[in-house]
Amino acid sequence: MLRGAKNDSLDICPPINAEPSIAMTSSPDDKRLLTGNRLLLKQITRRTMCPSIGIIGGTGIYDPEVFDIVDTISMSTPYGATSDAISIGRLGEVEVAFLPRHGTGHVLPPHMVNYRANIWAMKQVGVERIVSPCAVGSLQEGFEPGDIVIVDQFMDFTKTRDYTFFDGPKTVHIGCADPFCPEMNAIFDQTANRLGVSHHLGGTYVCIEGPRFSTRAESRMYRGFADVIGMTLVPECQLAREMEMCYTSLAMVTDYDVWAEHAVDTATILRTMSENVHKVRDILTDALPRIPDIHGCDCDRILREAGA
Ligand SMILES: [Zn+2]
Repeated sequence: MLRGAKNDSLDICPPINAEPSIAMTSSPDDKRLLTGNRLLLKQITRRTMCPSIGIIGGTGIYDPEVFDIVDTISMSTPYGATSDAISIGRLGEVEVAFLPRHGTGHVLPPHMVNYRANIWAMKQVGVERIVSPCAVGSLQEGFEPGDIVIVDQFMDFTKTRDYTFFDGPKTVHIGCADPFCPEMNAIFDQTANRLGVSHHLGGTYVCIEGPRFSTRAESRMYRGFADVIGMTLVPECQLAREMEMCYTSLAMVTDYDVWAEHAVDTATILRTMSENVHKVRDILTDALPRIPDIHGCDCDRILREAGA
């Protein structure tokens, strides 16, 4: 099932469910069976790593001092190339799959990221839960540079992206009233509280097309209904939902958007990010071991609820 996988030296779990049209298991017993199968496969193959947690990271998240990378997988997908090879390894004792959203060297601007390929590939390596660190601008005084926002809503102002795996003939309308995983959000909130990291549990992220920043008029309008602004959350979040994966966003505030009468410049954003990215790494390191194998959420039954 790993189409075009170039590295055949790494044994990985077969995909649990590569086709979005296949209903996932959903009963508690089924979930235990799923987890048992994953562990059994690891025991049988010995070298097999089966990360159920995937990190799609933006600038500054990947740190070779933190991630112990065991191997990398390059794959082609029915939707084209991923942003980069997926690194399989460990963060502490937790197996993770890591994919740099913008590619190594940050060569892909937000509107050029192949979100469908990235999410599809993560599903192929067995990922069930995605953590998505990203950088955002603030639309509200109370969301200060350096704060972490555990986003709970989004608004979509993108224009040219591929938004679904269901391009027909089958039509599927997934529910998106609460697009983020409540279980994961709660775990990251508890971790941030424990670590004393200034953060917000809940916040609305308005996603714009980019790559340009907003005009002042646009920024003032967005302030009426959103807390932070960025360019990458959509369609990544909804595609993960279509694959019945948990999705949570750790958004780091890097600046006040232009409504605050400050010019937004890339140098300031990068400086704030480099000064605060350790907070995201600390949260990940502490929170990932606390994520249970058996889901306490309903993210893995979204298609069933959509009648797919
Ligand atoms: Zn979930």
